[in-house]
Amino acid sequence: MADGIPYCDPVACPVAGCDPVVCRGAALGSNAVAFERSTRVIPGGVNSSIRAFKAVGGTPYLVARADGARVHDIEGNEYIDLVQSYGAVILGHAHPEITRAITAAVSDGTSYGAPTPREMKLAEAISERVPSCERVRLMNSGTEATSTAVRLARGATGRKRLVTFNGNFHGATDALLAAGGSGVATLGLPGTAGVPEEAVANTLVVPYNKVPELTDDVAAVIVEPVAANMGVVAPAPGFLEGLRAECDRVGALLIFDEVISGFRLGPGGAQAKFDVRPDLTCFGKVIGGGLPIGAVGGRRDIMENLSPLGKVFHAGTLAGNPLATAAGLAALNALTDDVYMELGARARKLAAILRNASENHGIPALFPVVGTLVGMYLGSSDVNRTPTNFDEAKTTDESLYARLFHAALQAGVALAPGAYEALFVGVGHDDAVMTELERRIEIAFAECAKSSH
Ligand SMILES: *Cc1c(COP(=O)(O)O)cnc(C)c1O
Repeated sequence: MADGIPYCDPVACPVAGCDPVVCRGAALGSNAVAFERSTRVIPGGVNSSIRAFKAVGGTPYLVARADGARVHDIEGNEYIDLVQSYGAVILGHAHPEITRAITAAVSDGTSYGAPTPREMKLAEAISERVPSCERVRLMNSGTEATSTAVRLARGATGRKRLVTFNGNFHGATDALLAAGGSGVATLGLPGTAGVPEEAVANTLVVPYNKVPELTDDVAAVIVEPVAANMGVVAPAPGFLEGLRAECDRVGALLIFDEVISGFRLGPGGAQAKFDVRPDLTCFGKVIGGGLPIGAVGGRRDIMENLSPLGKVFHAGTLAGNPLATAAGLAALNALTDDVYMELGARARKLAAILRNASENHGIPALFPVVGTLVGMYLGSSDVNRTPTNFDEAKTTDESLYARLFHAALQAGVALAPGAYEALFVGVGHDDAVMTELERRIEIAFAECAKSSH
């Protein structure tokens, strides 16, 4: 699958007289050579560990550029991309409206250390679309949003304890990097080296889709209202409502981590789709239009505990960044109800394409769809066994996924290099792309089936 557009960056290419049309990134060499060079300066060659191919084997491709649904690596290979920056670029890569917004903003300066009109407008845009967000504070990543929400919840309630759900992911923040047990509640086990027991001593990890009984020392329950970091798991009927009621019973705050689901499931996120109002909401990904961003929104009385009004500290040199807010506003403005309708149809189409290919080639698989999100579990095609929590999600066949991942890459389809990521379609995946995707997916499953027997 190397019939993509040849690529060379004429500015960066050190080869004298290099012809950008003929050159296929020879200046950097192959993906393997370039990646090896990266590993000599960047630990593991990646700046986010999930980008490594550790779970699937092999060497990552280095992206030279991308447009719409397609990414192009430095060797000139072209892939239909289902990673889409893990959901951050819902309009597709290099969408003209995003490019226009950033280009217009950039010549006015890139950061000031003072308030700007666009951060006000982006906060308004979020608050208008998500009514629970009476106040919104912008920051730089989803991780910063969850860590700020946790500090705010603790500061506002004067309580320490957090409740999280096994298989949910809230970014790389110590208090939320607690390990979950198998089907049971566990307390205070660090999920990674470098997190002291003390940092998670007040974090209780419980199974997803089961309302835990809370005690009155709980500051907050933080949940992905649609779990999209263990494949895609829908909230069971009554689960989110049950969390709301249980939080109210003991005076704990309910935090929705909508870093993925926010502005992806629809303008109101999961809280609108399932009609449950959290106290605080974390955002990231979509609201930055592909630039670094995060946000916490919520009830006015709680949000006003944030400094400078209240005693809970938050600050950030680049928070409310002019380029990120420009891109975010462009993204939210482009995301009309019609676009969400179309993305929903496209998600169902993607699941149908995958289901057909898996059936045609005897690879048992499930492709649950929640709104515009698609998940993939390999090893069973029994819809009654669609995972509802992390223990069930973990039954997916990871080695089969690794084979499918490489077969897909060969066929020109980029999946995430991990078996628990959601598949993302966006505005860039138009009808022509979906038709070509269907052809390539068919080839990938055929190849995968061959290598499995
Ligand atoms: C991606 C993600 C985060 C972390 O966001 P970053 O911008 O990567 O720090 C937090 N929560 C959820 C649900 C996510 O998917």
